[in-house]
Amino acid sequence: MPTRREVVAALAEAVGPANVMWRPEDLAVYEFDGTIERSTPHAVALPANAAETAAVVRACNRLGVPVTPRGAGTGLSGGSVPARRGVVISTARMRSILEIDPVDRIAIVEPGVPNLDLSKAAAPYGLFYAPDPSSQQACTIGGNVAENAGGPHCLALGVTQNHVLGIEVVTASGELTWLGGRVPDALGFDLRGAFIGSEGTLGIATKVIVRLVPSPASVITLLAVFDSVQQASETVSAIISAGMIPAAMEMMDRLCLQAAEAGFQCGYPPDAGAVLLVELDGLPDIIDGQAATVRAECLERGAKEVRLASGQREREMLWKGRKGAIPALGRLAPNYYILDGVVPRSKLVEVMETVSTVSERFDIPIANVFHAGDGNLHPLVLFDERTPGAKSRVLEAGGEIMRACVDAGGALSGEHGIGAEKRMFMPWLYNETDIENMARLRTVFGNTGDFNPCKLLPTGTGCGEMAHQAAAIAAAGPDAYV
Ligand SMILES: Cc1cc2nc3c(=O)[nH]c(=O)nc-3n(C[C@H](O)[C@H](O)[C@H](O)COP(=O)(O)OP(=O)(O)OC[C@H]3O[C@@H](n4cnc5c(N)ncnc54)[C@H](O)[C@@H]3O)c2cc1C
Repeated sequence: MPTRREVVAALAEAVGPANVMWRPEDLAVYEFDGTIERSTPHAVALPANAAETAAVVRACNRLGVPVTPRGAGTGLSGGSVPARRGVVISTARMRSILEIDPVDRIAIVEPGVPNLDLSKAAAPYGLFYAPDPSSQQACTIGGNVAENAGGPHCLALGVTQNHVLGIEVVTASGELTWLGGRVPDALGFDLRGAFIGSEGTLGIATKVIVRLVPSPASVITLLAVFDSVQQASETVSAIISAGMIPAAMEMMDRLCLQAAEAGFQCGYPPDAGAVLLVELDGLPDIIDGQAATVRAECLERGAKEVRLASGQREREMLWKGRKGAIPALGRLAPNYYILDGVVPRSKLVEVMETVSTVSERFDIPIANVFHAGDGNLHPLVLFDERTPGAKSRVLEAGGEIMRACVDAGGALSGEHGIGAEKRMFMPWLYNETDIENMARLRTVFGNTGDFNPCKLLPTGTGCGEMAHQAAAIAAAGPDAYV
C-alpha cells in the first residue's frame, strides 16, 4: 500500500504539483456531492487534458489506488464521492468549448464545461443544447454523460443519450479511445451508448461531441393551480392523452411551492396544493391551439386558475422557482434526501398516494417536485441529521418509496443514477445474469474494481457504508485506505 506522499508525488509528475490537492482543508470540498454520502479522498488531481488524465489513471492503477471521476459534484446518488478514498480526478480544468458547428449542428466540448454555458455559447447561432438539468448552472457535460442526465425540457426532446454523438474516453485501464464520433449510427456495438449512464465506472470522458437543436420559434408557459397533487397528477395523463407532448410538464407540491416562493418571490400561490408548469414550443399558430387544450384539460380536472406567463420576465421567474425549488427546501429543513424513481404516467396518482402515506407513517415531511410528464418523481425527504436515528429512518422511508415505484412497473432512477445509495436495490429489477453482464462490461474497459468503486452494481466488497465512514477514517488515521 503506497503512502499518501508517494501518491501525491506520482500525481504531481502527471499533472504538475500545482494541480494536486492533498491538504485537509482542500479535500473537504471533495468529500461529498448532493447526497448524504461522505468520504474524504487522499488526494485530488486536476488534469488539463486527456493525456494528463490518462497519466493520472495509469499512475493510480500502478499504485493500486482507487480512482473517482468528478465534475461539479452536484450528483444526487453519491457517484462522485470517493467511496474507498484514493484519488479524485476532477475535470475542473477542462472547461473549453472547442467547436460549435452551426451547419452540422454539433458542438465539441471538454467535460468540465457547465451545461448552461454550452447553450449560452450556441444561442447566437439560434441553437441550444436540449438536456437541461435543474442544476445546469453548475453541473458539467461530463457529469451529464455519466448520469445520462435529463431535465424539464427532456420530455419532448429526450435525455443526454439522445444528444451525444461521440465521446473521447480515458478508459479505466488508462487508454485513450473514441466511442462514436461526429455522425450518428456508426456500425458495430454502441459503446458510446453503454458509456452514457455508466456513472463514471468505465472511464473518464475527456471530450464530448453533442447535438445542438434549433431554438423554438415561440414559447408559451402556463401555470395551472390545483388544490391537490392528485388533481394535478390526473391532469398530466389527460394532457398527453389529448394528443400532444409539451416541451416540459413539471409538478410541485405545497411544500415546494412555499419554499420556492419564499426563496425567489416568483409568483407561485403558496397556499395551493400543487401546480403544474407546462411549456409549449413551436410555431405560434400551433401552440396557441395547444395552450387552449392544456387550459381546458386543467380546468376540467379542477384547476382553480390557469395562468399564461405574460412575457419573458414572468416566464423566467416561473422557471427560476422550479429550478431553484430543491435548494430552496433548505429553508424548511437542514437536510434532505432526494429520491429519483420513475413510474408509468398511468400510475402517478397511485404512487403519489403511497408517498404521502409513507410520509404520514414515518412522521417525516416529504416534498415533491418532479418531471411529471416523464413520470420521473423526486420525493424529497426532509430531516435534520443531528437528530439521533433520523438518517436511518429517512433511508427506510426512501426504500419503501423506491419499492413502490418498482412495484408500479417503474425504474430506480430517471436521471440521478444508481450511484452508491441505490445499488442494493438493483436486484429488484435485474437478475444475477443481468448484473453479471454489466460487471463484465466494466472489465472490458479495464475496471477491475478500483475505478469508482462501490457504485452502480450491488457487487464488490470492502466498500463499507459511506455514510458511516467518518468514524472509521478518523480511527484509521489520515493515510489509511478504508
Ligand atoms: C439542485 C439540483 C437539481 C438537479 N436537477 C437535475 C435534473 O433536473 N436532471 C438531472 O438529470 N440531474 C439533476 N441533478 C443531479 C446532477 O446535477 C446531475 O446528475 C449531473 O449530471 C451531475 O453533474 P456533475 O458535473 O455535478 O457530476 P458529479 O456529481 O461530479 O458526478 C456525477 C457522476 O459522474 C461521474 N463523472 C463526472 N464527470 C465525469 C467524466 N468526465 N467522465 C466520466 N464520469 C464522470 C462521477 O464519477 C459520478 O459518478 C440535480 C442536482 C441538484 C443539486
